[in-house]
Amino acid sequence: MSDTGPTTRPARSAAIRFRPHHFLCAVGYRGKGYSPDFTANMTAVVMGRLRAPGGGGEMLEVIAAADDLCGPCPSREGAGCVSGAKIARLDASHAQALDLLPGDRLSWAAAQARIRERVMPGDLARVCAGCSWLAYGMCEEALAALHAAEAEPETQDAAR
Ligand code: SF4
Repeated sequence: MSDTGPTTRPARSAAIRFRPHHFLCAVGYRGKGYSPDFTANMTAVVMGRLRAPGGGGEMLEVIAAADDLCGPCPSREGAGCVSGAKIARLDASHAQALDLLPGDRLSWAAAQARIRERVMPGDLARVCAGCSWLAYGMCEEALAALHAAEAEPETQDAAR
């Protein structure tokens, strides 16, 4: 084996795989999740990458199955979910709201710009109907903050 160093790109530069409804979940995330492992992983992705300095440049790839947030979720069943029907409805609703298709790649800055353009404060009651986190209000609060930061350059992270 060569000792000249790694021959693959470091994990940090790999695109983060998100199913459609996780784009808005990443905006609303406040450190709460379904289990300690799920929360640790989501914190690493959202706080450690998307909201880290320069996080707007992180690339995201849309997938139509369990993604990089679902990995340690206690409800994951292979590439699916025990709440499959509900998750499919959320993904369909969010994909339509954000005009996302499997295979699309966009930066986190571009994703936030698209959210600001297409999802208005108050829309989550419709877009996220059925999600158990909706009633806590964290996601609407975060969406409002994202809109309030609209005047900032795209390359900056949304206010947190
Ligand atoms: S309400 Fe649910 S689906 Fe909507 S952004 Fe929040 S966590 Fe995600």
